[in-house]
Amino acid sequence: MAEKKDYYEVLGVSKTASQDEIKSAFRKLAKKYHPDISKEPNAAEKFKECQEAYEVLSDENKRSQYDQFGHAAFDGMGGAGGSGFSGFSASDFDFSDIFDNIFGNSFGFGSSGRQSNRKARGDDRLIRVNLTFEEAVFGCEKEINIDVVEECDECHGEGGFDSETCSTCHGSGTVTKQQRSMFGNFMSRSVCPDCNGTGKTFKKKCNHCHGEGRVIKNKNLNVTIPAGVDTGNRLRLSGKGEAGINGGPAGDLYLEFNVKEHKFYQRSDDDIYLKVPLTIAEAALGCKKTIPTLYGNIRLNIPAGANSGDKHRIKDKGVKNATSKNKGDMYVVLDVQTPESLTRDQKKLLEQLMNTDLENTEIRKFNRFVKEN
Ligand SMILES: [Zn+2]
Ligand SMILES: [Zn+2]
Repeated sequence: MAEKKDYYEVLGVSKTASQDEIKSAFRKLAKKYHPDISKEPNAAEKFKECQEAYEVLSDENKRSQYDQFGHAAFDGMGGAGGSGFSGFSASDFDFSDIFDNIFGNSFGFGSSGRQSNRKARGDDRLIRVNLTFEEAVFGCEKEINIDVVEECDECHGEGGFDSETCSTCHGSGTVTKQQRSMFGNFMSRSVCPDCNGTGKTFKKKCNHCHGEGRVIKNKNLNVTIPAGVDTGNRLRLSGKGEAGINGGPAGDLYLEFNVKEHKFYQRSDDDIYLKVPLTIAEAALGCKKTIPTLYGNIRLNIPAGANSGDKHRIKDKGVKNATSKNKGDMYVVLDVQTPESLTRDQKKLLEQLMNTDLENTEIRKFNRFVKEN
């Protein structure tokens, strides 16, 4: 895979660029490379690259992670730049906005409606949540701390107090301009720059939200995580994302899980693998072993002549599937341990064994092969 380009380079902005600069750089590039309208070679690829860079740099948390660790900050999240991003970048940015700007108002009076006070759904948010193995397997309650954009309480999302009709556009939210072109003059309509299309201005701007109508709030959310989730799974919390604009619905909050590995259990989807070490004597003679399952201990009969890698399936002792609620199985995998140091007595015993016939079929087959060559 080719070396990933620096996100700042991709957007053509400096490391100290403001959010406005980042947004406007992305808008420009998105127009240039949008696969539906671009004639540039590799437009789709470039577009994806820009989206990914914008997704990170437009989010202050992700941006500071990126500044500290570079692309490594996002490794292991669905393959850096891969599926981890898709689905979110689009909602992170209102593409209809771009198309309005490109196609909308330049067609004169044909298009209707003021865009800036259009209702818009709030952005979706994605948060990564670390879980222990047990939390993922059995489910848990988690308190999630999150910064979200919410409607300003002070001005109820208006951005100010004592509204009056905008004097520039007389309340229509749009201004019309006459433009010359090679086909003659035509009228074009654009959003009123003084009221941003709302048709009103305020005598007093809201200090709490600086006229934005929305503020960033730090919140603790109590979330029930269902049993059976695994790394990469996402949980959608409807309406818990960013506040909508102009009374639009809030976006969704997605939790993406990252499950810590267990010291002994290995998980493969809903199945659990457990390596169980045996002494050579236990393996040769057979034994009864206590096996800790997810649901308590059981006794397992290991027959004589066990080998490393032998698997014993214990039905329904795996993980309960988060959706189907069916349980996976548990696999006990034997691992015969050759002693690393021996006492004098043990050594003597093994030497005596060496002189007896301890060959099994595999050894016999191999010895025959050696002789034949
Ligand atoms: Zn306010
Ligand atoms: Zn106006």
